[in-house]
Amino acid sequence: PRLANQIAAGEVVERPASVVKELVENSIDAGATNIIIDIEQGGHKRIRISDNGQGITKDELTLALSRHATSKIKDLDDLESIASLGFRGEALASISSVSRLTLTSKPAAQDNAWQAMATGRDMQVDIQPAAHPDGTTIDVEDLFFNTPARRKFLRTHKTEFSHIDEVVRRIALSKLDVSFALNHNGKSIRQYRRATSDRQVEKRLASICSQAFVDHSIAIDFQHQGLHLYGWVASPGFTRSQNDLCYSYVNGRMMRDKLINHAIRQAYGESLAHDAYPAFVLFLNLDFDQVDVNVHPAKHEVRFHQARLVHDFITSAIAQSLHQQHL
Ligand code: ADP
Ligand code: MG
Repeated sequence: PRLANQIAAGEVVERPASVVKELVENSIDAGATNIIIDIEQGGHKRIRISDNGQGITKDELTLALSRHATSKIKDLDDLESIASLGFRGEALASISSVSRLTLTSKPAAQDNAWQAMATGRDMQVDIQPAAHPDGTTIDVEDLFFNTPARRKFLRTHKTEFSHIDEVVRRIALSKLDVSFALNHNGKSIRQYRRATSDRQVEKRLASICSQAFVDHSIAIDFQHQGLHLYGWVASPGFTRSQNDLCYSYVNGRMMRDKLINHAIRQAYGESLAHDAYPAFVLFLNLDFDQVDVNVHPAKHEVRFHQARLVHDFITSAIAQSLHQQHL
């Protein structure tokens, strides 16, 4: 199993930031409202995620570490309507095959915490009693220690940490009611506090995307034929030389989708220089049966069943907002 899991890891686990993404998404799926991310040496040495979510019962710990074990899909029909972020049941098994991973968890209804670790070629799971508050901690040490070819591709601590920072930023934008702390080598780097009021949301948006973005953007909210688009778009006067403020989400998942980006650019039209990027944080929600999210293992791409409709809706909603902004 270790080898098979390592092969799967090749698809899901590219670098420390991909581990952070998978683990934080699991915490969110578990209903956590507080997530603490501790990184050592850019994630080369350690990635530890602690949450206050529903936890994993002692009986389910072994299963959580095995491949294709997901508690999130019960049958094939569910695949058509995936509401949770994870659904492949590969992340923990994959990560654990290329690192020293320990999983410690305590559901609120269980008296004690338990810790699990899978070791050896057959990924035998060993379970021990542990101390832990309600919730889950996943500790990933020495990523790629047993896959030297992959380890070689890791960049400097600083570069890997900046990728982690970006992943946390993206997730924090999409889950405003969850608080996140990101620490590096024992130092607090980011604190995104739980935002519920408009003021708190604005503050959090400013801390993630800059005050300038907040000052130059407007909130939008449009619905049409089962499509819902909302978020913030910056005025054409506020552009970027990089795509570093292009955040789009489909049904809560962060995406780098060509169709969406194209639709947005089209809305800005001539006002956008060919080498400039617009700035936006946009959420598109639509019926789960209108979109396939299972296109890519890293889940960055989607396929819309009514691509044209989606594209034109986005373009016209944003164009309309930008137009009103100029009046
Ligand atoms: P997936 O997210 O695709 O289901 P994973 O390998 O990421 O697969 O996780 C396997 C299972 O472990 C999940 O389905 C979930 O039941 C459990 N799990 C993982 N992380 C957590 C967490 N932080 N809190 C509660 N349960 C978790
Ligand atoms: Mg997952």
